[in-house]
Amino acid sequence: MNALAGSCPACAEPVGLGDRFCEACGTPLLRKGSTSAEAATKDVVRKCPACGAVSGTATEYCDECGLRLPDPADRTTIDLGALAGVSDRGLVHHRNEDAIALGRLLDGTTAAVVCDGVSTTRQPERAARAASEAALAVLLGVDAPVEPVARVRAAVEAAGTAVATLDGSNPSPDGPSCTLVAAYVAGGEVTVGWVGDSRAYWLAGPDGRLLTRDHSWAAEVVAEGLMDEAAAFADRRAHTITRWLGPDTRPDPDVVSVPHDGAGTLLVCSDGLWNEVPEAGRIGEFAAGAGDGATPLAVANRLTEVALAAGGRDNISVVVIPLEGVQV
Ligand SMILES: [Zn+2]
Ligand SMILES: [Zn+2]
Repeated sequence: MNALAGSCPACAEPVGLGDRFCEACGTPLLRKGSTSAEAATKDVVRKCPACGAVSGTATEYCDECGLRLPDPADRTTIDLGALAGVSDRGLVHHRNEDAIALGRLLDGTTAAVVCDGVSTTRQPERAARAASEAALAVLLGVDAPVEPVARVRAAVEAAGTAVATLDGSNPSPDGPSCTLVAAYVAGGEVTVGWVGDSRAYWLAGPDGRLLTRDHSWAAEVVAEGLMDEAAAFADRRAHTITRWLGPDTRPDPDVVSVPHDGAGTLLVCSDGLWNEVPEAGRIGEFAAGAGDGATPLAVANRLTEVALAAGGRDNISVVVIPLEGVQV
C-alpha cells in the first residue's frame, strides 16, 4: 500500500493513494463512465417506442412497425458526483457522433475526454467512442507517465492508435475519424491536450477563459494575422479542422498545463456547445445561472439545454468539473 489517501466508501478500511480497488473488500475506487459503456449495456435489447416490440441489436429499424429506433447514444448522461457529463444528439443530426468518457480516482485525480466524429468520414461515432475510451484508460491508468504533460500526450497517442486500428490492418482513407480534447486534473494542476476544435474552458464565477486553441482554418488564419476573427469566422471554410485523429494521421496534439489557484469550473466540450454560444464569457454566465450549489450534472444539463435552445445544430457534449482553489 502507498501513502494513505482515505478510507474505502464501502468498508471504511484505509486505502492507498492511487489504489484502483479496496484491498479489504474489493470495492472499485475508480469511478468512470463513457458513451461506449452506456451504449454497450443499453444495446442488449431495444424496445420500440411506438409499438413496444423488442428488436435485436443488429437492426436500426423496428422489426414490427419499421420505425427507426433511437440510438442508445442519442443522449448519454454520466454523473460521477464530483463531475458529470452530457452528450446529446442535438436537433438536426440523425446520430450522435460525439462521445464522452470521464472518471475519477478516490485521491481526487480526475480525467475527462470529449471526442467529435468527423462527419465526412464513415461511421465517425466509432472513432469518437474508441478514442475517448482509450484516452481515459491511459489518463487514469497505472502504467502511464507520472508527469501530467507526458501522460496527456500518451493518452492522445493511445487514442490515435485506437482510431487508426479500428478497421484492422486494412484502413481506408475515409475511415472513422474524430477530434479529441482530454483534461487531466491532479496535484492542483489542469493539463489539457487536444486535436481539432473540441475545447476546454476555465470558468470562474461569470467569467470564462478558453484554454485550448482550435486546430481549424479560422483559428489558424487569425493566429497568422491573415484575417481578423469576424472575417475568418464568416468564411465558409471557418470550421474546417486542420488536425484530427484518423486512419492515416499521426496524432499531433497541443498540450497546456495551468494551475487552478482559484476556485472555478473546468468545462470540456464539443463544438456543438461553442458554435451556439461562441463567447467564453457567455458560457460562464449560463453555467453560473444554474445557481449557487448547483451540481455538476445540473450545470452540464443547463449548458446542453442552452445549446439546444439556440438551435442544436450539431451534437452537443459537455463535461463539467468544479475545482477548489489550491495554494500554489
Ligand atoms: Zn472496502
Ligand atoms: Zn461537432
